[in-house]
Amino acid sequence: MRRHTSLKSQTSLRPMKRSSSSPAAAVEFPTSPQSASGDGMLHYAHSEHPLLQVTLPELFTCGGCKEYGAGRRFACAQCDFQLHDFCAASPPVLNSHPFHGQHQLVFHAKPKSAKGGISWPRCDVCGKSSKGFAFRCRACSFQMHPCCAMLTTEVHFPAHPHALRLLPAVSTMGAGSGAAASCGECNKKRSGRVYRCTVCEYHLHAVCAKVFINGLQANGIPTPQRPSTLGTAARLAGQVVIEFIGGLIEGLGEGVGEALVQNIARGRCVSRRRIQQP
Ligand SMILES: [Zn+2]
Ligand SMILES: [Zn+2]
Ligand SMILES: [Zn+2]
Ligand SMILES: [Zn+2]
Ligand SMILES: [Zn+2]
Ligand SMILES: [Zn+2]
Repeated sequence: MRRHTSLKSQTSLRPMKRSSSSPAAAVEFPTSPQSASGDGMLHYAHSEHPLLQVTLPELFTCGGCKEYGAGRRFACAQCDFQLHDFCAASPPVLNSHPFHGQHQLVFHAKPKSAKGGISWPRCDVCGKSSKGFAFRCRACSFQMHPCCAMLTTEVHFPAHPHALRLLPAVSTMGAGSGAAASCGECNKKRSGRVYRCTVCEYHLHAVCAKVFINGLQANGIPTPQRPSTLGTAARLAGQVVIEFIGGLIEGLGEGVGEALVQNIARGRCVSRRRIQQP
């Protein structure tokens, strides 16, 4: 098993100094995902408020790539904005990525506009539309989501005991093998690239592999299928995050934290009720 690590080795984040009302000097941002203190980090995609790195089991929609996530994330303490950890740390360029080694890929925060406002450009790895953060090739039309860039040509997931290898882009599921192979996770026909087991006949869509990257699998959350349920779930999850961060800040028992909590309460109605995910 070999994991693609170039995304993690670089970061586009910078530590944020404490507000001027606090006498403390600039503090290094904590690297542990569990430690969310009063310190935050400013990200260019959300420059008005600091983001805190937190780990929460609830579903969220990433404000960068516009896709689902759960678990580790960067969350705003004052509004609903959240980012996947890998989206927040997207490097400006990817050189010799295993999916597109022939050309350099450049990070874009804004998507290519939808043709006629209807069809968004498609990710060349998972086949889903790309509506936000993406790595795009300068030389050809290749592009992929930050989540898909975390995948590599050979992967090992907890769902299957053997290593999986990405089939060439031209291969479709079941082609050439005679027997109609189906995806071990979804059992459906879907577009995008496909992994095949190096030992047995197990197949897995790249799009179905994303749940092992974005935290949904680790947190036991099935991928929501209908867009209508997405909005509600993401809104509820956002509320939970604000409560969670509000609790952390209250725990500090300092003037700075209290002021921040008041700002949150003024900005939106904060429910004290714990919201259960469906
Ligand atoms: Zn994202
Ligand atoms: Zn915010
Ligand atoms: Zn993708
Ligand atoms: Zn290219
Ligand atoms: Zn599948
Ligand atoms: Zn196998």
